[in-house]
Amino acid sequence: MKKSFTLLVLFPLILSIGVIPALQSDFLPEVDAAKAKGNSLTETNSKKVCGDRLCSTIDSKQMMKHSDSMMPSGSMDMHTMMERMDKIHEKHQKHMMHSWDSMTLDEQSQMYEKMQKMIEKMESMDMDEHMKMMSNMGDKDHDKKMHKDSDEKRKTAKHDAMMHPEKMRIAAPLPETTMGPQIDYSKGYLVEEIKDGIYWVTDGAYQTMFLTTGEGVIAVDAPPSIGENYLKAIDEVTDEPITHVIYSHTHNDHVGAMSMFPDDAVYIAHQEASDTLEKKSDPNRPVPTVTFEDKYTLEVGNQKLELAYYGPMHEPGNIFIYAPNQKVLMLVDVIFPGWTPFKDLAMAQDVSEFLAAHDKVLEYDFDTYIGGHLTRLGTTQDVQIQKEYFQDIQASAGKANQEVSFMAIGQEVGFSNPWLVFQIYADSITQQCTDEVVPKWIDRLGGVDLFTYDHCWKISESQRID
Ligand SMILES: [Zn+2]
Repeated sequence: MKKSFTLLVLFPLILSIGVIPALQSDFLPEVDAAKAKGNSLTETNSKKVCGDRLCSTIDSKQMMKHSDSMMPSGSMDMHTMMERMDKIHEKHQKHMMHSWDSMTLDEQSQMYEKMQKMIEKMESMDMDEHMKMMSNMGDKDHDKKMHKDSDEKRKTAKHDAMMHPEKMRIAAPLPETTMGPQIDYSKGYLVEEIKDGIYWVTDGAYQTMFLTTGEGVIAVDAPPSIGENYLKAIDEVTDEPITHVIYSHTHNDHVGAMSMFPDDAVYIAHQEASDTLEKKSDPNRPVPTVTFEDKYTLEVGNQKLELAYYGPMHEPGNIFIYAPNQKVLMLVDVIFPGWTPFKDLAMAQDVSEFLAAHDKVLEYDFDTYIGGHLTRLGTTQDVQIQKEYFQDIQASAGKANQEVSFMAIGQEVGFSNPWLVFQIYADSITQQCTDEVVPKWIDRLGGVDLFTYDHCWKISESQRID
């Protein structure tokens, strides 16, 4: 705790004002490395989400509250420091702070070591040096000098993010709903029995399930990110060979490691998925040996699975996989328990089919839902919540479609470049929808600051053209 608070206080200080630039230059690559690994930069306590989706406000005051007892002895007067921090805070509203919690243990210990060095350096300063350092903080020229490098980096990062929102590396703090079981990352996966011979396997980003039957394992999907660890997970709980393999759908990120299963296993998929796989002719995704159109019941040993197809809720051939005895339902890339779906309705090919999927899922009698992604399993409540989220998006998108005027925008920017008018028109609608929806959902689902815009775009455009 102590470590973390000291760092919370010092880290934004280093980022924003360039205290001890020599050390700062050591820190930035680590931050970049952490960012490159996809760790999020979070706001510390502000949940404001900026319209341009580039936001992050550090509330240094909040952090300072915790910091009094953490400062090294002989350091600057706390009151002065707080005043300074207030000014810095105002001046650097948009500075980002790295989330300590999102760093790996290695990164934390490296960061801590650097911080220790900095604290030692600060401790070795006498009061004059301290005061000089503090007074320099407000000095524009001095700041400019100190900041040249990091400013350049920030400018580039900001520019990149504006031109390419997909490169954003900042995010709002995650709500409790996103929390799942701890995964031992040195092992690389978690395997757990859900009930009576149904197990789920996850690496924290992807998840799937397999069943022991007494006569052989039924394995569903094979996400490449889990890869061979899937086989290890199966070995961990049973000696049974893998005899049956099911495709939830065809997307490579969920089934791209299917070829690791035995050649002589029975490979089952929906007819449309099978057609797609045949066309792709990908050695990593073997062509199914058994296909079906509407429903298929698989009984092996003491287990029973009911497979069903109700239309392209994600892509043509994506199926419901239901274990009636254990009340477990798997449908991949549709419901994301605790989180917003991936952008553009998780790449759903048909907006109305995707939206209708929520009610179809709720027709099933299940206790556990396997969505194929992220941190945890789901329940019917998660489906209800996601349904409500998309109802909000539909309402806000519809309202924005009513309120934003294409002609008014054209009159303002001129009609010589119609694409420009379309772009501003579509973006205004999407942004208005996003601004309405995000504040309502930021505490309820993870990632709504990142992907609501894309859902608003997809749904508002569908309302205009479908
Ligand atoms: Zn998919």
